[in-house]
Amino acid sequence: AFNFNAGPGTLPVPALQQAARDILDYQGLGLGIMEMSHRSKEFMAIAEQTESLFRELLGIPNNYRILFLQGGASSQFFMVPMNLLAPGTTACYLNTGTWSAKAIKEARRFGTVDVPFSGEADNFRRLPEPTDYTVAHGCQYLYLVSNNTIFGTQFSSFPETDVMLVADMSSDILSRRIPVERFGLIFAGAQKNLGPAGVTIVIVRDDLLDRVADSVPTMLRYKTHADKQSMYNTPPCFAVYLVGEVLKWVKAQGGVEAIEQRNEEKARLIYEMIDSGDYYRGHAEPSSRSRMNVAFNLPTAELEAKFVAAAAKQKMIGLKGHRSVGGCRASIYNAFPVEGVRHLVAFMQRFERENPA
Ligand code: PLP
Repeated sequence: AFNFNAGPGTLPVPALQQAARDILDYQGLGLGIMEMSHRSKEFMAIAEQTESLFRELLGIPNNYRILFLQGGASSQFFMVPMNLLAPGTTACYLNTGTWSAKAIKEARRFGTVDVPFSGEADNFRRLPEPTDYTVAHGCQYLYLVSNNTIFGTQFSSFPETDVMLVADMSSDILSRRIPVERFGLIFAGAQKNLGPAGVTIVIVRDDLLDRVADSVPTMLRYKTHADKQSMYNTPPCFAVYLVGEVLKWVKAQGGVEAIEQRNEEKARLIYEMIDSGDYYRGHAEPSSRSRMNVAFNLPTAELEAKFVAAAAKQKMIGLKGHRSVGGCRASIYNAFPVEGVRHLVAFMQRFERENPA
């Protein structure tokens, strides 16, 4: 089936085939990948390789650490301010949807949060232009969600500011090239573009590790995990392993640049279909459109329900939109094939013909 779900997303078949072999017996050891000690030389090699491949593919400079954590991207909503926002200081958050709103709520437990832009009034259809807001002087960081999974919006470029950027890239990490050096910290849950749920990757500039207050518990300090190469406690071994296999696939595809071109092509095909008439309406304003999640509506809620059900019968699953937007959403992460997108576009054309408004 073609999996249009917003998460967990489709994983590359070669990575899954390799995992199927390694689950039973990793390289003839007589132990499966989930059964090996995380301190064994075999697993340490897997973790190191995963980290170095991720660094290579995203062009992450040497003064950044890469951490494999648990607790999902949602735990980063509090870990970021816990580690980077000292009491009495201010951070700036752009409110571009559900995931930024949750992060704002958590950050307010730790310091002052300034929200100079909110897209709430128009149901998060549009991302801010640089002229829409100013970042208050002295802010510790400017927080943004690079791709808003629910509303189908994505920053095509990042704010130019002297303040360091912190980004939730859960739904577009590794889908395009990014200027890592402009960020103090980037985090992403793995389950859309990187691998299975269960591991969250954090990229953090090493000079930020010492900012943390003494009162922060050991497990919630980035420094704890950085000092121990993410092996302070048992890491999510299988998830880290599978991320490694997914990264090998990305490299074999030609790296992030090639993946980016393919993602552009996939998104273009669907948006062209949407823009070809009045039947389908995109939720996001064209300048804010996401290449990962295409949220759209049909003329009526009844037609939308019929569309989702008819698509599922043809093995295109997960096209129902999030409840806060309604309508439909096609999530087309890295491993989602162009062929699946062509299938959807042909189905959209047919459905429109057979179900006039
Ligand atoms: N941030 C974004 C942009 C997301 O899309 C999601 C989940 O879809 C999350 C955070 C939450 O991730 P998790 O379920 O790993 O906590």
